[in-house]
Amino acid sequence: MIVAMQERATEEDIQGVIERLVQVGFNVHRTTGAVQTVLAGVGTPSHFDHKDFELLSGVAEVVRITSPYKLAGRGFRPEGTIVRFPNGVAVGGDEIVVMAGPCSVESREQIFTIADQVKSAGASFLRGGAFKPRSSPYSFQGMGLDGLKLLREVGDRTGLLIISEVMEISQIDLMLPYVDVLQVGARNMQNFNLLREIGLVRKPVLLKRGIAATLEELLLSAEYILAGGNYDVMLCERGIRTFETYTRNTMDISAIPVIKKLSHLPMLADPSHGVGRRDKVAPMARAAVAAGCDGLLIEVHPNPDKALSDGAQSLFPEQFDQLMDQLRIIATAVDRNIRAEIPVI
Ligand code: PEP
Ligand code: MN
Repeated sequence: MIVAMQERATEEDIQGVIERLVQVGFNVHRTTGAVQTVLAGVGTPSHFDHKDFELLSGVAEVVRITSPYKLAGRGFRPEGTIVRFPNGVAVGGDEIVVMAGPCSVESREQIFTIADQVKSAGASFLRGGAFKPRSSPYSFQGMGLDGLKLLREVGDRTGLLIISEVMEISQIDLMLPYVDVLQVGARNMQNFNLLREIGLVRKPVLLKRGIAATLEELLLSAEYILAGGNYDVMLCERGIRTFETYTRNTMDISAIPVIKKLSHLPMLADPSHGVGRRDKVAPMARAAVAAGCDGLLIEVHPNPDKALSDGAQSLFPEQFDQLMDQLRIIATAVDRNIRAEIPVI
């Protein structure tokens, strides 16, 4: 149930409603938007009449939520969530953010070289896996802690924000000092124990759509994180598995406007995993911006042919540069913008 407070509701009014919600057995999540406070009661109390809440002082409207996701739904924050970072970068506002870098951190030289390249092209985040979920146990599994240390060092030097994948609960605490965003990969979208633990930390999260997950399942997975009180969740379409085999996955561009309608959470797109082929990454990135995404996750490698993972879908730095120029033009056409270069603070 959502209780939208009147614009002029006092703190006392708000506390009164919170108390009543708790009394009948709800867990209460509060969000204060530009104009009003919204209270979401989640849980399944058996005896209550939602009309009683309409009579409480300061209440504007009471809405029963019929969708299975209560906190991830638009109604909780009709104006949309903006995930803010200390250096001024914001995801979900007017700016479209670009997170770029290699699939995996492979060496000091590789990550320092690519960081400078993606920064000068206009990326705000450096991506790079330190723990890699690989289909084969014999493939490169990532540099682990050493990779995280390199990411932090290059992030501090360039001002780029750092995003890297967390694969299991035991890695959360280890990663917190080194990353600005925890990425939950497609294979872990329904690792509910991991999602619950991530809900308890206060660090932004990028949650990728599972390989065979519906959009409702994606939103329910986000709900696990939000229910723990971590509201800084960004979603990401990264292609789903269909009967088509020409591309590695089928990039579901329609997921972008659908999620933007159903949810207040920022929606990003990862065209690299979406298609799995370098020559099709740029068209899908352009389509995602045109479709209204809040950001992109793109694999770029200084020498893709020598990459230890996902080389075939990694852009050459010059291709990334050219793509960013095109994206700026498309962003303007849909009333958005992409920054020229992130400042070092
Ligand atoms: C990645 O970003 O490198 C990755 C493993 O992504 P996904 O979880 O979408 O496969
Ligand atoms: Mn990858």
